Amino acid sequence: MNAMLENPRDPRPRDLLGRPLHDLRVSVIETCNYRCPYCMPEGSTPEETALDRARRLSFVEIEATVRAFVRVGAGKIRLTGGEPLLRKNLPVLVARLAAIPGVEDLALTTNGSLLAAQAQALRDAGLHRITVSLDALDPAIFRTLSGGRGEVADVLAGIAAAESAGFSAIKLNCVVQRGINEDQVLPLVERFRGSGHVLRFIEYMDVGTCNGWRRDAVVPSRELRDRISERWPLQAVSPSYRGEVASRHAFVDGAGEIGFVSSVSEPFCGDCHRARLSADGRLFTCLFASQGHDLRSALADGEDALATRVAELWRGRSDRYSEQRSAAATRPGKKIEMYFIGG
Ligand code: SAM
Ligand code: SF4
Ligand code: SF4
Repeated sequence: MNAMLENPRDPRPRDLLGRPLHDLRVSVIETCNYRCPYCMPEGSTPEETALDRARRLSFVEIEATVRAFVRVGAGKIRLTGGEPLLRKNLPVLVARLAAIPGVEDLALTTNGSLLAAQAQALRDAGLHRITVSLDALDPAIFRTLSGGRGEVADVLAGIAAAESAGFSAIKLNCVVQRGINEDQVLPLVERFRGSGHVLRFIEYMDVGTCNGWRRDAVVPSRELRDRISERWPLQAVSPSYRGEVASRHAFVDGAGEIGFVSSVSEPFCGDCHRARLSADGRLFTCLFASQGHDLRSALADGEDALATRVAELWRGRSDRYSEQRSAAATRPGKKIEMYFIGG
């Protein structure tokens, strides 16, 4: 145990760099109906099998796991995937998780393609917040970025349905790639400025190994900030809490705010309080980890055993991949793919 860094007024276990656990991303499914080239390029993964389904944690197991994580400090829970809305009866899981004492925030990240049909049920089940991925408004560019499988109109209908269901300040994630969808940035800002929703531009990351990432495909947030600010002046806003991933900027004319997630150009590992649970029950302590820790056997021993195991694993954590990215020697050979552990 890293006793030096434990804080007597904050009983949460701290990792080897003094970071407490605060957020848990729960991947409920590892498959997807899209094939975004930056995440799950066509041909990189076989179609879903019955074995995949059998390996997934059940809702009862996910609930028990989340309870254990909450005991170790994780108050913010985000459901993700793969595409989480492909998981059957997801609102049933949402209702179970929303009822756990200590879950302060329950959110979902989705590609939005199936949201129109499910937004109301998710809201009624107690989901607090929604993030929708939206890389382009232009239908042809959007289609290419979904691997030829998605229609932007469906996603826009999903966002509208989420609004009608009562979700506010919906976050809209756009991964920007040089020469691919940079020209979509200003149209997206124009469309959502003043809507109450918050666009977030995400630097293309070298997650996993199947996307063939190249640094020159990354558009640094600084550059986007300048480009947007030239048209609609922006001013920096202080983070709403320590460890907030996106840096916030408000439109000077009062038309709301946007965010930038700059994990390549401005890494934020020092404040990373996030754990990730794969759909098959493994804990990943970093988005760029090559291996997870199987939690199923501790889960079989009950919630106490699981909470103890999670605390022990968290205390041994020293990940800071993004801060070490440039040092080739520290780069692991094989990294877990993003669709296994969510964003
Ligand atoms: N399928 C859902 C979706 O697309 O919103 C949830 C899972 S997806 C893996 C979560 C987020 O990760 C999405 O916003 C997606 O754009 C982002 N993402 C995937 N691959 C990425 C990459 N290489 N760099 C940056 N963000 C990425
Ligand atoms: Fe699917 Fe989301 Fe990955 Fe796109 S980013 S392939 S929608 S999991
Ligand atoms: Fe957290 Fe790993 Fe990303 Fe650093 S690289 S911010 S430790 S997930």
